[in-house]
Amino acid sequence: MDMQTITILGSTGSIGTQALQVARKHNMKVKAVAAASNVKMLAEQAKELDVSCACIYNADKKAELDERLSGTGIKTLTGMDGLKEIASLDGVDKMLNSVVGMVGFEPTLAAIRHGTAVALANKETLVAGGDLVMREAHERGVPIYPVDSEHSAIFQALQGNDENRIRKIILTASGGPFFGKKREELAGVTVDQALAHPNWSMGRKITTDSATLMNKGLEFIEAMHLFGVSAEQIEIVVHRQSVVHSAVEFEDNSVIAQMGVPDMKIPIQYALLYPKRVECEVGRLSLTDYGSLTFERPDYETFECLTSCIEAIKRGGTLPAAVNGANEVAVAAFLDGRIGFLDIGRIVKTVGETAEYKEIHTENDVLEADACARRAARELIG
Ligand code: MG
Repeated sequence: MDMQTITILGSTGSIGTQALQVARKHNMKVKAVAAASNVKMLAEQAKELDVSCACIYNADKKAELDERLSGTGIKTLTGMDGLKEIASLDGVDKMLNSVVGMVGFEPTLAAIRHGTAVALANKETLVAGGDLVMREAHERGVPIYPVDSEHSAIFQALQGNDENRIRKIILTASGGPFFGKKREELAGVTVDQALAHPNWSMGRKITTDSATLMNKGLEFIEAMHLFGVSAEQIEIVVHRQSVVHSAVEFEDNSVIAQMGVPDMKIPIQYALLYPKRVECEVGRLSLTDYGSLTFERPDYETFECLTSCIEAIKRGGTLPAAVNGANEVAVAAFLDGRIGFLDIGRIVKTVGETAEYKEIHTENDVLEADACARRAARELIG
C-alpha cells in the first residue's frame, strides 16, 4: 500500500490522539486536522505534522489559532464551513471523523459527496441521518469504515461473507458503571461517578452516554444503518469484561465474534489500514487471565435511554435525530450540574415521544429535527 493521506476531524480528542499515534507509527500523511476548542494542542499537532490546513470549530479561538500558526503557511479555518472544507479536500484517501455529536453530520456528508472514504467514529452522523448518509455513500461507491469497537467487530466478522446473509447481530455492552443498579439507586449519581467507566477510557460525552446506556442505543441504530439489518435482528448483550466486542450469527448457526483487550487503537488502526492487519501498540489478550466471560440481559426499565433509542428507530424518520439531539442537550446540562442523572433519561424519553415524525429527504430535514429536539429539551430543563 502506498503512503496513505488522511485528515482528522476531532484530532485533539481521545480517538483523534490515538489515531495520530497510529498514523505516526505507520507513516501516514496527515493533511489536515480540526478540533472543537483545544487550540493549543491543535496548533502543536498542525506544526508537528506539517498539515496544509487546521480548523478550530469554536470561532472565538480563531484569532489565537492564527497567532499560533503565523508564519507557518498553514491555512486556518473555523466553524462548520471549516470542517466541511477539510472534509472535501482533494488528494485525501480517508477522512477520520471523530468529532463529538451532531456537529459531525454535515462533514461526513461533505466527504461522501466529494468521494472521500470515511473512517467513522462519530455515531451521531448515522443515528440522525443514517438513511441519507448510507444512500449517498452507496450511490457514490464511497466506503465507510466503522471505528466504534462494536461496529468494527461486526465489520471484521463479516469479512469474506459478502454472499452470506446476517441472521442476527449480537451487540455487546459493558453495562457501564451502574450495571445492576435500579432506578432509585441512581437518583443521586454525581458527574464523577458517571464518568468512572470500568473498562474504556473515552471523552466525557460518550462516557456519560455509556453510564445511561444511551451509547448502546445510539450504537443499535448505527448498526442497523451500517449493516442493513432490522431492529429485530439485533440482540444487545451485557458483557462486563469488554473482551468480545460484538458478533454476527449466520444462517448455519455459526457465530463469529471479534475479541481483544478493550483498547480503541485496534478498531482505529483497522479502519485506517483496512484490510491490513499489522503490529498494533496494544496489550495482547490472555483468556486465561480473564478466566471467565459473562453475558447478561440489559435492564431496559432502569436504562430508559436505551429503550427510547430502540422505539425511535422502530418508528424511523426524524425520530432518531430527535432523541439524539435531546440527549446532547441533556448530557451537557448534567455535566454542568444543572440536572440530575435520571433527568437525562426522562428528557430523552419525553422528547422522543412528543417529537413530530417526518421522513428524511434532505439534510435540512435532519438538521431541523435536531434543532426542534434541542429546543424541546431546553424547555424541559427550564
Ligand atoms: Mg462503542
